[in-house]
Amino acid sequence: MASRYDILFEPVPIGPVTAPNRFFQVPHCTALGHMHPQAEARNRAIKAEGGWGVICTQEVEIHPSSEVSPFAEGRLWDERDIPAMRLMTDAVHEHGALAGIELTYSGHHAANFYSRNPPLASLSTPVHGYAPVQARAMTLADIRKVRQWHVNAARNARAAGFDLIYVYAGHDMSVLQHFLTRKWNRRADEYGGSLVNRVRLLKETLTDVKNAVGDTCGVALRLAVDEPWGTDGIEAHLEGREIVSLLSDIPDLWDVNISDWSRDSATARFQPDQGYQEQYTAFVKTLTQKPVVGVGRFTSPDTMVSQITRGVLDFIGAARPSIADPFLPAKIRDGEFDRIRECIGCNICTASDNIIAPIRCTQNPTMGEEWKRGWHPEKIDPAVTPGDRVLVVGAGPAGLECALQLGLRGYEVTLAESTTELGGRSLTESRLTGLASYSRVKDYRIGRLQTLPNVQIFPDNPLDAADVLQLESPHVIIATGSQWRVDAAGRQHTFGVPNIQSTLQSADIAQVTPEMVMAGSSVEGRVIIYDDDHYYMGSVLAEHLAGQGCEVTIVTPAARVSSWTEHTLEIDHIDQRLHDLGVTVIAQYQLPDHSDITGGPRALNVTHVVTGQLLTLGADAVCLVTSRLANTELFDALVATCHPFKTLKIIGDGEAPSTVAAAVYAGHLAARSLECEQLAEDALFQRELIALSDTDRHR
Ligand code: ADP
Ligand code: SF4
Repeated sequence: MASRYDILFEPVPIGPVTAPNRFFQVPHCTALGHMHPQAEARNRAIKAEGGWGVICTQEVEIHPSSEVSPFAEGRLWDERDIPAMRLMTDAVHEHGALAGIELTYSGHHAANFYSRNPPLASLSTPVHGYAPVQARAMTLADIRKVRQWHVNAARNARAAGFDLIYVYAGHDMSVLQHFLTRKWNRRADEYGGSLVNRVRLLKETLTDVKNAVGDTCGVALRLAVDEPWGTDGIEAHLEGREIVSLLSDIPDLWDVNISDWSRDSATARFQPDQGYQEQYTAFVKTLTQKPVVGVGRFTSPDTMVSQITRGVLDFIGAARPSIADPFLPAKIRDGEFDRIRECIGCNICTASDNIIAPIRCTQNPTMGEEWKRGWHPEKIDPAVTPGDRVLVVGAGPAGLECALQLGLRGYEVTLAESTTELGGRSLTESRLTGLASYSRVKDYRIGRLQTLPNVQIFPDNPLDAADVLQLESPHVIIATGSQWRVDAAGRQHTFGVPNIQSTLQSADIAQVTPEMVMAGSSVEGRVIIYDDDHYYMGSVLAEHLAGQGCEVTIVTPAARVSSWTEHTLEIDHIDQRLHDLGVTVIAQYQLPDHSDITGGPRALNVTHVVTGQLLTLGADAVCLVTSRLANTELFDALVATCHPFKTLKIIGDGEAPSTVAAAVYAGHLAARSLECEQLAEDALFQRELIALSDTDRHR
């Protein structure tokens, strides 16, 4: 039957190859890459199975003179890397999708820690980050070599079975983009100066690659059309436009986005809307006859159709939406819209890459586990004892995911939640400024649970041990979550600050908890947030309370506020927003180690983490964001009884407070391993082992 979404399923030619539909997984990192090639292949294959018409690699190194170790990106230095890459192309082709590869020469974005070659860049400059490594400026001979290395890699990529070969000039991570900008290119030769000169290397490389493989492979150009450094950068309406005009019909496909990576993969906290790149990229289609792909955290089929019919894009590009739901296209095709697991825009996925841990996702607990544990995002083994009863206590991310997967397995599930509304922290945190999308974690799961006749849900039902015993369920899973500590225990004060609550009270300083703010308690005046947690909560509370008119100061022992959000690409945006809101930031200060934390009425003392220098801050209220206390009372009480359960376990934040992603994963693992306890044993997942051989000893 014809549907308004049919347009998304039209085949689209890309040079000599044809994509089966408009769903396009653009290159994105997995931190699997050359370190975990089988896991990488399976990860990409699942997306092809889920209906994505084009599946790309992450960035792929093409030569040892530009390698980003210790990061686990792709590697195609020479023909010896072909077999590992072929694992992916074969797996993707099995499902009828095209396989694309993003050839990358990183310039001063690579420190070459493994090869130890001096990096080659557009100029002599320190490499990105803080490593004491400097790149040297490429000579004309180097430029010829870099072009040739692209050609060699393109031929090897074709031999590995790739259909689409990318030339990469994006994210401020590629030498081909560095040559484009005045910030990184002040060369006096024919590759510097005028825009025509600065585009020369990109144009030559693109043409070389087309000449080498363009008869059988599509050649794509990934270009950042906007890099906001004024005249030093690329502004979409100025040089961005001119670059596209200069190269107009050379690539077979334009993959356009904005730079840097933190703008391209903006979190929902800073870019709440789908399609947020349209204002920068929409012009591209007016300047080329070739198809255009772009991204914007697209999860709504109607928004996708609108992008196509309004002539903004030809392909719906996705990295994160394909991570959160590898079966997004299939679900749209089959009209299963309420089964779409929408990305929440949290960037736990990018954080994985940045900490060099295999990819994971808040919404999709199977992400990165496809090969390692053999998990499929849409399939789960049936119950070992169908109809056996399972009681899940707590309907936060862990409990909801566990109940859903157990229900899908065919168990008779009872889900009890003490509050009137389901969702746990995915509900409460979503009430804070910038975190509205976190409610998708609960919304997706509640929506699906409501369709399962074998799952009974009881909100407003706080259970104690006697209640649980009375229910006589053979399997009991406790997912009771956690709460923020009120004693300041955390990294700096392992056992808290003695008597902090009474001391604050005697100094007439109110103590508010994050939970109180989430519940809408009124907070007024000068509020000090003490953040020894270092992820998002401290800065979100600062933003939220400043937005409500409080005079907010955030004190952190770290060098920067929310320092871990460096990995979720948010840290600079957080600094900017706190600055814009007038929040005072005091970094490298902590609460004093002793109980003398007040300097008189409504005055809080903090000390420098190294020098001990004392600062006294005026305070009407203090909010501690240090660590969380797991709610284990119910579990402990049950363990203390001679309980009759076949299964009794505690999962998620109740076991060990962590990210929402970790709680969802814990719920999923508990459900998969019920009555198959050996599956929960960590040692039993598959590992990629290095094959020892002497064939690679000499070149
Ligand atoms: P997680 O992230 O591990 O899922 P959350 O804190 O988000 O943890 O969710 C835990 C949920 O468990 C909360 O909604 C809380 O109200 C609920 N809960 C805690 N204790 C009980 C209990 N004894 N009976 C029923 N529900 C409980
Ligand atoms: Fe989206 Fe977060 Fe999953 Fe990344 S980790 S795909 S941002 S839900």
